[in-house]
Amino acid sequence: MKSIEQLTRANIRSLKPYSSARDEYSGLAASVFLDANENPYNKPNNRYPDPLQQTLKKEIAALKSVRPGQIFLGNGSDEAIDLLFRAFCQPQEENVVAIEPTYGMYKVCAGINDVEYRPVLLDEQYQFSADALLEHADAQSKLLFLCSPNNPTGNDLRREEIIRVLERFEGLVVLDEAYNDFSDAPSFLLELDRYPRLIVLQTFSKAWGCAAIRLGMAFASEEIIAVLNKIKYPYNVNRLTQEYARQMLHRRGDVERWVKQLKAEREEVMQRFARLKCTVHVYPSDANFFLVHLTDAVGIYNYLVGAGIIVRNRHHVALCGNCLRVTIGTRPENDRLIEALQNW
Ligand SMILES: *Cc1c(COP(=O)(O)O)cnc(C)c1O
Repeated sequence: MKSIEQLTRANIRSLKPYSSARDEYSGLAASVFLDANENPYNKPNNRYPDPLQQTLKKEIAALKSVRPGQIFLGNGSDEAIDLLFRAFCQPQEENVVAIEPTYGMYKVCAGINDVEYRPVLLDEQYQFSADALLEHADAQSKLLFLCSPNNPTGNDLRREEIIRVLERFEGLVVLDEAYNDFSDAPSFLLELDRYPRLIVLQTFSKAWGCAAIRLGMAFASEEIIAVLNKIKYPYNVNRLTQEYARQMLHRRGDVERWVKQLKAEREEVMQRFARLKCTVHVYPSDANFFLVHLTDAVGIYNYLVGAGIIVRNRHHVALCGNCLRVTIGTRPENDRLIEALQNW
């Protein structure tokens, strides 16, 4: 097996990163800061934020039972995904493997970074076989993307298959757990020390109700996180976001209540969908959304738009013909959706 250092692109390995004023002096003892050309007025937003978000990371580490050095924070999970390509994939030479269908950003980031993207179709249950997936990998495969619960299919991937990939893939395994809070399956965060090439992605955008603040988390070995820190923009997470995220960490009760409510509402909405004349099949879900196969997805999508209700049309996505992806909203919002569909 290659080491993390061997997996890292040569130019990144030898890069001398930009050193910001806050990197060079990060102690707390000083009281006069004349080093960063900041304006002394308009506190507290006049100051550059902590480039490594140390206070916030300490609090997240305690919550997630990991070490602060195992956490990367970025401008959404999307920043971590992009940085993984930039750190580990040589453009035009190397490739990544992913399940299909899945979250669209992996493929977009591959395209932006000029890295070959190898999608491997899921089966009819939207599950994958580790062996089939790994058949598409070769010595140039640096990243392998799994998403569980998967978007847009909604289901958890089988744990034994994920483990088999972790044991056999020679590059880095990126496991996107954006929706894990809505699932009964345990997170792979607790397996980080067992699998040194595992990267787990989580986000403040879904269960935490904070899509607007743009805060994504990547969890991995200290060695992998150090590579991401080396190439990120110096002040990639602004002070307002760091501050608001810390406030949210003290609102765990609210988040737990939202998740519980959304899971209960999910079961309710899915049962009501199953009784609609226009429904062919409701796929099981471990997330805060579900996929539904309809008699005429595009017609129904356009009809709903006309009624001021927007769902996600997945008709053109592989294995999702005539499917819409429906996010669970509040009870009144879900009622409006069902009512509109009863009149279709
Ligand atoms: C919504 C979502 C995310 C979150 O992305 P952010 O950039 O953190 O908002 C990540 N992965 C998947 C699969 C998602 O559906």
